[in-house]
Amino acid sequence: MAKRDYYEVLGVQKNASTDDIKRAYRRLAIKYHPDKNPDDKDAEAKFKECAEAYEVLSDSDKRSRYDQFGHAGLHGAGVHDFSRMNVEDIFGALNLEDLFGDMFGFSNRSRRSRRSGPRKGYDLETVVQLTLNEVADGVEKTIEFTRQDLCEECKGSGSAKGSSPSACSACGGSGQVAQSGLGGFFQMVSTCRTCKGSGKVITKPCKKCRGSGRVPKKRLVTVKIPAGVHEGQSVRIAGEGEPGFDGGPRGDLYCYVRIKEHPFLSRQGIDLVAVVPISFTQAALGGMIDVPSLNGKRELKIPAGTQYGDVFRIKNEGLPDIRTKRKGDELVQVIVEVPKKLDKEQEELLRKFAETEDISVMPKSQGFFEKLKQHFNNG
Ligand SMILES: [Zn+2]
Ligand SMILES: [Zn+2]
Repeated sequence: MAKRDYYEVLGVQKNASTDDIKRAYRRLAIKYHPDKNPDDKDAEAKFKECAEAYEVLSDSDKRSRYDQFGHAGLHGAGVHDFSRMNVEDIFGALNLEDLFGDMFGFSNRSRRSRRSGPRKGYDLETVVQLTLNEVADGVEKTIEFTRQDLCEECKGSGSAKGSSPSACSACGGSGQVAQSGLGGFFQMVSTCRTCKGSGKVITKPCKKCRGSGRVPKKRLVTVKIPAGVHEGQSVRIAGEGEPGFDGGPRGDLYCYVRIKEHPFLSRQGIDLVAVVPISFTQAALGGMIDVPSLNGKRELKIPAGTQYGDVFRIKNEGLPDIRTKRKGDELVQVIVEVPKKLDKEQEELLRKFAETEDISVMPKSQGFFEKLKQHFNNG
């Protein structure tokens, strides 16, 4: 579940230049490309991991956020959710035509698919941080993130006001050019580099979006997180991703859940575990102790003769199951502490106690000394 360091993923140094990063990514993307590794899930996962690392490290803003705050710094930075994308969409989202040229037909395919009518926009991912109490009760969170939106200035066309795209002169507007391969033996049709297959070129690019038709914009959405959610699970908010292509619908936003550490409680499925120190006299004599719970301090009765590591169960103080809503318990494990220092009076009392000590009432000692005796008798 844990994400690897992006520099490690691409195998570059922390001070790598943009060109180093491009080169490293290009090499790995070719190595793990699904065309070269059919039906290899591991290669596919690596391919997507590299894409994610490249998206962040090739963008100066995202890279500096990552350098300062690690993965948590990219929260709301508009990073794509590559896990759900296919190759064409990944290359499309990363705007990679220039990096690969016509290799493997990477770009051909992405360009062609971009021409084939309305398509859904790209999905985005973001992270929500929850406390254990929010996990217990469920919560509504407002998240701010950045996404690409259609440029208002040019309504997404990319052309400056009053101008419109003209037919591409390199391909005559068809988006494709014929090339002869292998000394003229056959003809290959490939996508026009000038217009990237659209058949049109923007003659006067819009100033605001520099011809891309899209600008990054901040966005606030409210997401409802169900009680009992687990670390790494995601909630999908339909239609909050990037704008579609050629009139297609927007992509979706996936909110991944990260759970903040609680100072006293850790999670074990639907149960919560608290480790509580008690003194050796409390353990021997029994008594009431204070234990932390999700709902503040609670009293717990421990019986006389409690042993190191014993676990007590407080019913229904755990977390709900995300589907059945059945509640788990809180498990309190006690750790018996032996005093490191005794004053005179305490020491005398303990010495008196030691004189009366009877190993036969101490379950572990009894077994241990019997075994020891046997061992030396036999040896
Ligand atoms: Zn524009
Ligand atoms: Zn063209």
